[in-house]
Amino acid sequence: MSWQDLLEANEHLLGDGAMGTMLHQEGLQIGQAPETLNVDRPEAVKNVHLAYLEAGSQFVETNSFGGSPLKLARYDLNHRTWELNAAAAAIAREAVRQAGKQALVAGSIGPSGELISPFGTLEPEKAEEAFAVQAQALASGGADLILVETMSDLVEAKAALAGALRSGLPVWVTMTFEANGRTNWGVSAQEAVETLKTFGASAIGANCSVGPQEMLPVAKQLAAGALPVILQPNAGLPQLIGEETVFPLGPEEFALSMERLLPYAKLIGGCCGTTPAHIARLQDLLA
Ligand SMILES: [Zn+2]
Repeated sequence: MSWQDLLEANEHLLGDGAMGTMLHQEGLQIGQAPETLNVDRPEAVKNVHLAYLEAGSQFVETNSFGGSPLKLARYDLNHRTWELNAAAAAIAREAVRQAGKQALVAGSIGPSGELISPFGTLEPEKAEEAFAVQAQALASGGADLILVETMSDLVEAKAALAGALRSGLPVWVTMTFEANGRTNWGVSAQEAVETLKTFGASAIGANCSVGPQEMLPVAKQLAAGALPVILQPNAGLPQLIGEETVFPLGPEEFALSMERLLPYAKLIGGCCGTTPAHIARLQDLLA
């Protein structure tokens, strides 16, 4: 089933929640590139996907958020871009098969971690090229679509979108809006929708940074854009307790808080601080 068919058959499509925190529980060390687990410990990654699929996820995101060659270069792993991303998609594909469910594999692409010129030294064309390699590797491993996520700079979001479209797959894009309704780069939801729609995104949305409650004004603006909207907030606004970042909303509170976002989004899920329990509770709400 294509993603459009799946979307038409469901009022909402349920995504997954955080991957990184789950992988730390599985033994990922601080300072280690999470993408290396796709080759070194594929079972650990697959178990996270399986937990989300069991909770009700209808699309799961590959463990490739930091898998652009630009980001991998920080770990001196850029020469393994193809291998690590293709493996990420293959693991998610295998989890979906094993779960025996109708679910999509969304190839995750996060920011490059570099500043695009004129603010930094990275040329947009070079960024696009790098994202294209990552997207093509994700496609080769069996991704159904590409999800460009957590973008703040619209120029980088456009470069990632253009690069991802070269894979031939549909591309969804989420940007990270702060509580004031703008990204760290000052981009508004309206600007994001208009630009990314023009450049060929199939769905546009918001993820990370804030909780469901703070995301409401942005959700309304995004919904005016006539494209399917994705909303993947954190489990509330992060709080620093001692040296630990804590996300305050438990599964129940998260789901209750998500209820007000449902009229504005077709694709929903969670970001930092959300777990399979949060997604399961969201699934109850949708049912
Ligand atoms: Zn997040």
